[in-house]
Amino acid sequence: MAITLPALPYARDALAPHISAETIDFHYGKHHQAYLDNLNKQIAGTEFETLDLEAIIRKSQGGMFNNAAQVWNHSFYWNCLAPGGGGEPKGKLAEAINAAFGSFAAFKEQFTQTALSTFGSGWAWLVQRPDGSLALVSTSNAATPLTGSDTALLTCDVWEHAYYVDYRNARAKYVEAFWNLVNWDFVARQMR
Ligand code: MN
Repeated sequence: MAITLPALPYARDALAPHISAETIDFHYGKHHQAYLDNLNKQIAGTEFETLDLEAIIRKSQGGMFNNAAQVWNHSFYWNCLAPGGGGEPKGKLAEAINAAFGSFAAFKEQFTQTALSTFGSGWAWLVQRPDGSLALVSTSNAATPLTGSDTALLTCDVWEHAYYVDYRNARAKYVEAFWNLVNWDFVARQMR
C-alpha cells in the first residue's frame, strides 16, 4: 500500500505574490514529491508497508523517519496556507492565543522569532500542549510534533527550499509574507 501525495488544496499560482507558482512547482512538485517517492521505496517489502503515514512516523527512524515526517509536515504546511488567508484568528483560537501570548501581535512577533532563530533547516510550530495551552516550538530537519504529546496547530517551513526562489536568502521576508497566507480556519480546526 503506497502512501500518496494529497492534492495541493489550491491552484499552484494561488498563493502569489507571497509564494510564487515556481516555488510551488519546486517545493510541492519536486521536494515534497521526492520525500514521498523515497518513502515508498523504503517501505516497499517491509513491515512498514501496511502502516498509514502517522504510524510509520511513530515507528521509524533514520532515513525512513526523515522522509515520512517530511511528507506529513509538508501536507500540514500546505493546509496551513490559503489564498486570501492572513488577518487574525477568531473565537476560541484567538482566546487561546491571547491567554498564552498576551495579544495576537505578541504571538506574531514570537512565532516570527521562532522561525527566524531556527538554526539551519527546520520548522516553526504553534502547538497545543496536553493541558490545552498553546506554545511555540522549533524543530530541526524533519522533526515533527507528531512524535510527542503536543498537537500541531500551525507551521512555517523554514528550510531554505521554501523561500530561495522568491526571497533568495531572506528568510525574514518570507516569514513576513507567510502571515498574508495563514489559513486560520484550518489552524482552529486542529485544536482539541
Ligand atoms: Mn519544505
